[in-house]
Amino acid sequence: MISIAIDGTSGAGKSTVADILAEKLGIMHLNSGALYRACGLYMLEHNIDPHDGDRVCKVLPKCKISVKFEDGKQRTILCGIDVTDKLYSSVMSDYSSIVSQYERVREYIKHVQQDIAKDHSIIIEGRDITSVVLPNADFKFFLTTSVEIRASRRLKDLVKAGEKVTYDEVLAELKERDYRDTTRAINPLIIVPDAIVIDTSKLDQYEVADYMIKVIKDRRG
Ligand code: C5P
Repeated sequence: MISIAIDGTSGAGKSTVADILAEKLGIMHLNSGALYRACGLYMLEHNIDPHDGDRVCKVLPKCKISVKFEDGKQRTILCGIDVTDKLYSSVMSDYSSIVSQYERVREYIKHVQQDIAKDHSIIIEGRDITSVVLPNADFKFFLTTSVEIRASRRLKDLVKAGEKVTYDEVLAELKERDYRDTTRAINPLIIVPDAIVIDTSKLDQYEVADYMIKVIKDRRG
C-alpha cells in the first residue's frame, strides 16, 4: 500500500499531475475538489445561497456524495446521480470555494475521502490532504506557481469548455479563491513541514510527475 498526498493552490496542475502519476503507478487518484464541487452543486440545484452557512449545514445530511472509478477515472456521484460533467464551470468553482469554508462540510468530505483511502493505495489531491485528510501519507507534495501563470492555464481550459471569460476575470477569481483557501478558519491551505514543494512554472505536467516518481523510488528503493 502507498498513500500520496498532494496539496497546492488552485490551477497549479495538481489534478493533471495526479492523473499521470496514478497511471504510472497503477493506483487510484481521488480528486477532492470534485467532492466540494458536488456539494456546491447540491446548493445550487436546491436554491441555497452558499453564503448562508446555517442553511448549508442544515441540508448537508441530505447531500450524499460518493465516487466510482471507471477505467481508472473518477466519476463523482451526488445523491445517486453522476454529476461529473456538471462540476467545472466558473459558477461551480465559486460555489465550491464558498461552501468549503464550513467546518461541517469539511468534516463530511474528509470522512468520504478517508473511507475510500483506508483500504486502497491512493493519491489524493486538494487543499488539506497533507495536513488533515492524510496526515500520515507516505509522500507529501505541495505544488504551486504564480497566480498569473495559473490564470493563463485556467483561461485556456475554460475557453476550451465554451465559457466566455476574460483573463482578468479568471485572475480575479483565482486570487479570491486563494484568499479564501489560505485564510479560512478551518483547515486552511498550508505547506506542512514534511511536504516537498514543487514550483510548476517551468515544468510541464510530465516533468512534475517524473520528478515525483524519482522521489518515491529514491526513498522506497
Ligand atoms: O480543486 P478544485 O478547484 O476543483 O476545488 C474546488 C474548491 O474546493 C477549491 O476552490 C477549494 O476552495 C475547495 N477545496 C478545498 N479542499 C480541498 C479541495 C478543494 O477546500 N481538499
